[in-house]
Amino acid sequence: MSSGQFTLPPRISRLHDLAYNLWWSWHPEARDVFEAIDRTLWSLTAHNPVKLLREVPPERLHALASDPSFLRRYDAAVMAFAADLNTPETWTTRTFPHVAEATVAYFSAEFGIHSSLPIYGGGLGILAGDHCKEASDIGLPLVGVGFMYPQGYFHQRLSADGRQEAVYEYLDRTDAPLMPALMPDGNRCRVTVPINDRHIQMQVWHVRVGRVSLYLMDTDVEENAPWDRELSARLYGGDLEMRILQEILLGIGGVRVLRALGIEPSLWHLNEGHAAFVTIERLRECMQTGMSFDEAQTAVRQSTIFTTHTPVPAGHDAFSFLLVDRYLHNYWADLGIERERFLALGAHREPWGEVFHMTVLALHLAGWCNGVSQAHGEVSRRMWQSLWPDTPAEKTPIIHVTNGVHTPTWVAPELHTLYDKYLGPDWVKRHDQPALWQRIHDIPDEELWAVHSRLKHKLVSFVRERARDLWRKEHRDPVQVLASGALLDPEALTIGFARRFATYKRATLLLRDLARLQGIMQDRWRPVQIIFAGKAHPADEPGKHLIHQVYALAKEYDLGGQITFVEDYDMHVAKFLVQGVDVWLNNPVPPLEASGTSGQKAALNGVPNLSIADGWWSEGYNGRNGWTIASADTNADAGERDAQDAHTLYSLLEQEIVPLYYQRDGDSVPRGWMRVVKEAICSITPAFSARRMVKEYVERFYAPALHAERTTS
Ligand SMILES: *Cc1c(COP(=O)(O)O)cnc(C)c1O
Repeated sequence: MSSGQFTLPPRISRLHDLAYNLWWSWHPEARDVFEAIDRTLWSLTAHNPVKLLREVPPERLHALASDPSFLRRYDAAVMAFAADLNTPETWTTRTFPHVAEATVAYFSAEFGIHSSLPIYGGGLGILAGDHCKEASDIGLPLVGVGFMYPQGYFHQRLSADGRQEAVYEYLDRTDAPLMPALMPDGNRCRVTVPINDRHIQMQVWHVRVGRVSLYLMDTDVEENAPWDRELSARLYGGDLEMRILQEILLGIGGVRVLRALGIEPSLWHLNEGHAAFVTIERLRECMQTGMSFDEAQTAVRQSTIFTTHTPVPAGHDAFSFLLVDRYLHNYWADLGIERERFLALGAHREPWGEVFHMTVLALHLAGWCNGVSQAHGEVSRRMWQSLWPDTPAEKTPIIHVTNGVHTPTWVAPELHTLYDKYLGPDWVKRHDQPALWQRIHDIPDEELWAVHSRLKHKLVSFVRERARDLWRKEHRDPVQVLASGALLDPEALTIGFARRFATYKRATLLLRDLARLQGIMQDRWRPVQIIFAGKAHPADEPGKHLIHQVYALAKEYDLGGQITFVEDYDMHVAKFLVQGVDVWLNNPVPPLEASGTSGQKAALNGVPNLSIADGWWSEGYNGRNGWTIASADTNADAGERDAQDAHTLYSLLEQEIVPLYYQRDGDSVPRGWMRVVKEAICSITPAFSARRMVKEYVERFYAPALHAERTTS
């Protein structure tokens, strides 16, 4: 079979479908098939099946087509794939048949599905990716709408003196699992969005994520002016002007894409304010059917769900009225309303004046709003109470659905196998049931410890291999090679800190008192090492300065290479880290971490959290499954608060964590530590899974919204 890209022997022709559906990324049986084709290429392509199939020699494929052991694997994977995609009975059909018949459109500026499709920046995108995968697993009919950014988010490189440099790579679309999206008449989907006298054209790509379809818009087409071709080139790349244009394309263009494809969503879920212009296009559509402006608003509200993701002001987009006038003035004419009435939809007073605020727009026009943890729900209700002046803060209509992670994506393959053995081979199907996880206690400590040690060795090899590449391929300064992890010790207690370098996350808290930290790290019989990773937004100077500070210490002779900075944090690096370190550290300034999800990934891999009580951890901590850093009074002066929090953190390490980790039996298994590990796995995995989360979105939003829609129409 030929796809235009590669030719496959007929006996194994379905490799094409497997490669072009990211279903493979969370099913070990499919990953194993690709690995078996060519182990080296699998690794060299960073697990990219499309690229692998393009590059593997045809003779190899012909040999595999008659290799019985390969064919056994291939047949099993193809069968599981077909069964999973075609089974008519799912959780959604059984529990909410009316939801199973509807379509939910999910809009997001980024989607983190797999590192081979680099169209995400961080937690927000990965959450969107996990939402899509889980929707597929439980049979929820969802379509995603976003952008195909050929240059994605930036790659991070550090100069010898620790300055972050942003490097953009151009993704060859033929190396990605992209298919042209087709309209019902079979033609390629193209959509035009007029913005003043510019007619911006977009081509649309179709990405399959199990049963879920993702449609990605791309302005890089010949008909567009060069500057318009660049509109979807990069994620979070431009200035505010670029940003408002991108958001017009995402919201207004995205609705038009679905219409052109003949998709009729009943519900519209806006992941973050970036997508809030969806509501404007839908108001326009409603009014074209003859509704008044008020009726249109009611109709849009009933069918719009909005999830807000951060209490940090810089995380919310707001535009000057000047920009809104410039790019949206045609819209109020179309809506038959005055400029003032249009601006009022998003107007928000900031200390420096009035702006058009995307979160305000979404809150005004979404009937169903939520924050992403219990604590963040409370913060959001207070933050936005002014929009409902007659309602007390606790009644502000913003609830919470706590984030979760897609368990099959984030679990280490080695643990997947161990869970198969002790929880039962159907554990993935039942992984949101807390009772199932009690069986974790049946796993012998030795066995779980052996798997963890193996994962830690894998992490250390991975980091050292990347350090070696800096030396061999990039000819970096030797000190940089050491700072990048060449001296890591696979036996030492290893703390992981990987996240965006935004100042509120306080990456340098642990480094405040170097003498005390050195005392902890350099105990001869109980060494401790720390691995840092994370990007700062290219425009975030204070964030970049934090990277500079961490890197300076990673290069410090006296610290012995026990502080490591791994460059270019992405989903690939994240997997090694959350699966391989011993403790996952999180120390934001509360209440600024809306949820956080990396700690959930760590816990399901048996890595306990050491965290400030903020975001999801306020709900996750039960006294036995990790450690909470009791944060100082938030009214204290910032320097004083940080000093106290650092002191608390050091004390926990000195008095509890390090001693417990190194308390070994004769057989060198840390029994007390394993109690915390098992408690972390069984208390956190089911409750903080994307399965629990997506089911909650269905139960609390999608199902009732669809009921309301039925009774009014
Ligand atoms: C999970 C993840 C995040 C989000 O984690 P936080 O806990 O919110 O920092 C960010 N980036 C990557 C690459 C991830 O895998």
